Amino acid sequence: MIFLIFVLGLIIGSFLNVVIYRLPKKESIVYPASHCPNCGHELTPLELIPVFSYIFLRGKCKDCGEKISIRYPIIELFTGIIFIINYIYLSDLIILSAGLIFSSLLIVLTMIDFDHQILPDKLTLGGLGVGLIFSFFRSDISFLFSLSGVIAAGGLLFSIAYLSKGGMGGGDIKMMAMVGSFAGPIIAVSSIFLGAVIALIAHLPGIVSGKTGMKTKLPFGPFLALASFLFWIWSENLFNLYINLFL
Ligand SMILES: [Zn+2]
Repeated sequence: MIFLIFVLGLIIGSFLNVVIYRLPKKESIVYPASHCPNCGHELTPLELIPVFSYIFLRGKCKDCGEKISIRYPIIELFTGIIFIINYIYLSDLIILSAGLIFSSLLIVLTMIDFDHQILPDKLTLGGLGVGLIFSFFRSDISFLFSLSGVIAAGGLLFSIAYLSKGGMGGGDIKMMAMVGSFAGPIIAVSSIFLGAVIALIAHLPGIVSGKTGMKTKLPFGPFLALASFLFWIWSENLFNLYINLFL
């Protein structure tokens, strides 16, 4: 079963690559079929197999020899691993399905934020809707809990954005409201704090060396997404760790 979940992750990962590449360019995700961005060579079914196609093509387009980014197979493998982690920690089929969709959204949002410094509404607000709908069918949270997650995380970040006069992007607010819809208020708010801590640590070298000043715009989305995933899977361990460290 774990192997099947891994293969599903590879296939979904391949689809996430398409979304990451095309969504910010406002291209259709289903049409045209996957092709080489350099020569337009349309990929054959064999060349569409995740990871393995990269290996037997030796990272190059069969027609024009253009290098294929190593990022594609890495995201496919990474999605496979994330799917296995969800499978190990989430027992119930409905919660697992929610987890796989939630994790996929976080992966795509992270990569698009890295590439373009945007978090598209289609993913954040669309995901928020999916999170709310899932709450009706899940045994672990209710619709009201899901909704209060949206309000708590969205409200907290909105207040920070308001007080800091635009130090926080609207995309971050909507993304964390989406996290709230899947994970509820406690995890969503905790993820905001953990995300801020991780972001601070990651940017510390830049701040100390003076390369990162008060005016530098720091991408926050990837750190929030990472923290959200950690809390989604390991909330109990993280809360215990926090209690042991600080209380
Ligand atoms: Zn080509």
